[in-house]
Amino acid sequence: MSQKVIGLIGGMSWESSAEYYRVVNERVRDRLGGLHSARCLMWSFDFAEVEALQHAGRWDAAAALMVEAAQRLERSGADFLVICTNTMHRMADEVQAAVGIPLLHIADPTAERIRAAGMRRVGLLGTAFTMEQEFYRGRLRDRHGLEVLVPGDEDRALVHRVIYDELVQGRVEPASRQAHKEVIAHLVERGAEAVILGCTEIMLLVRPEDSPVPLYDTTVIHAEAAVDLALTGP
Ligand code: GLU
Repeated sequence: MSQKVIGLIGGMSWESSAEYYRVVNERVRDRLGGLHSARCLMWSFDFAEVEALQHAGRWDAAAALMVEAAQRLERSGADFLVICTNTMHRMADEVQAAVGIPLLHIADPTAERIRAAGMRRVGLLGTAFTMEQEFYRGRLRDRHGLEVLVPGDEDRALVHRVIYDELVQGRVEPASRQAHKEVIAHLVERGAEAVILGCTEIMLLVRPEDSPVPLYDTTVIHAEAAVDLALTGP
């Protein structure tokens, strides 16, 4: 079977891009067997540059970087694009408009799995940008009919801080895992039937046994969906 070339826009952070690389290769091996592995290209940013723009609210400059990365991958032969972070889907529409190849949006396969499991009310963990801005919640609601619950103020601040101060720096702290268990418990008390790990590093910290409801890990779901797309069609 021929494989399309997956164009991964990564480095945000490389801790999660390494997971994407592992999962796409494992998925191809599982599906095709033998020595098969993924045909892919990755553009990997210096995350310090991206993070500075995010926290300064300089989203136009961040979008310009993303467009440049997308175009590099297109020129290099990618058949479609995967942005290996939830947060930077903020500029998914600009990226899509700047290239002639499709972008596989992280929220879509995630929401499809949740709907297929018969669930509708979900908790969302991610950066403050992902939890608070419309680009992500709005897509889950408007395209997929999900009701999205985000943590309260203190819990959101905690989740955001752990992402930037620990996880993207490769630190996995038991105390932060415990704190996330409590954040998830609060969402479940409010009626969440499932929780989206809407930051591609949270899977490094929170495990299925830390939650009384199913967790939807966007890193694994997105990477698997990328392989399924790569192995579809002509
Ligand atoms: N990887 C994270 C996410 O999925 C956060 C890092 C970033 O800001 O891109 O949102």
